[in-house]
Amino acid sequence: PLEPWYIGGPVVKGFGRGSKVLGVPTANLSIEGYSAVLSEHPSGVYFGWAKLPTRGVYKMVMSIGWNPYFNNTEKTIEPWLLHDFEGDFYGEELRLVIVGYIRPEANFPSLESLIARIHEDGRIAEKALDLPLYSRYKDAPYLEGSV
Ligand code: ADP
Ligand code: MG
Repeated sequence: PLEPWYIGGPVVKGFGRGSKVLGVPTANLSIEGYSAVLSEHPSGVYFGWAKLPTRGVYKMVMSIGWNPYFNNTEKTIEPWLLHDFEGDFYGEELRLVIVGYIRPEANFPSLESLIARIHEDGRIAEKALDLPLYSRYKDAPYLEGSV
């Protein structure tokens, strides 16, 4: 298992593709200040816990990378919080503890296969985060904003 790592910042606007094209909203994090952290971790799909000050702590599955399917030129951090929210939360301070790695970034032959894989990643994260090994990090002091 991976040593957990911690990142946070305001939720920024992306291309709006998450919900509209994939049916999966991803809360894009501003990567300002995280280039060193990002270069230490390979592109791919990770899971962990996400905290929104006004809403609480949720399971999340996250893509870090260039989204080859969409040919992005900038690396993005895009957690999908595994919860149905009322409305959006742009501008809110989002804190993440990343505890596990699922797979490397990959390209997909079709949008359908990409979407299917994202849902599979979500199921893997959902289950893994119930294991004591990973569930204990939902109480990480970093998420509470006290460090
Ligand atoms: P963008 O390209 O601007 O990131 P998305 O289509 O990916 O747009 O939608 C992401 C936005 O939707 C988030 O910034 C957040 O405000 C909102 N949102 C609502 N529910 C969720 C969720 N379960 N996980 C992540 N973001 C969510
Ligand atoms: Mg997004």
